[in-house]
Amino acid sequence: MECKFCRIANHQAPAFVIYEDENFIAFLDIYPWVEGHTLVIPKEHYRWVWDMPPKLAGDYFQVVHKIANHYRKVFQTEFVMSRIYGYDIPHAHIHLFPDARGKIAFYPKQRLGRLSLEKGKELSQKLRLK
Ligand SMILES: [Zn+2]
Repeated sequence: MECKFCRIANHQAPAFVIYEDENFIAFLDIYPWVEGHTLVIPKEHYRWVWDMPPKLAGDYFQVVHKIANHYRKVFQTEFVMSRIYGYDIPHAHIHLFPDARGKIAFYPKQRLGRLSLEKGKELSQKLRLK
């Protein structure tokens, strides 16, 4: 599978790289929502973050953690927003938005209202991981 992000990971396409190691690369989004908007991706192609093997996904989060904390220092903010969405490019990626408070908002199209005791019990039984 070859995609735009695979080409960046393989250094076949240019990117403003801010971090790289054996398995991951992070670079600035070319259409930033805020200054420093960063995409962190595995070098190997996975369609979704959830397709990655658990061990690699753990390493992935450590890299994201490292970059997010770096940005907290650089941008002098506690607030670094992250997002896993995945529709835009079919290669696993995590967005990091440093200092995004008040600049980006995510709201559902329709709010469901307060979770009732009944619905909460029903859902927690249905969704509990056994
Ligand atoms: Zn890819």
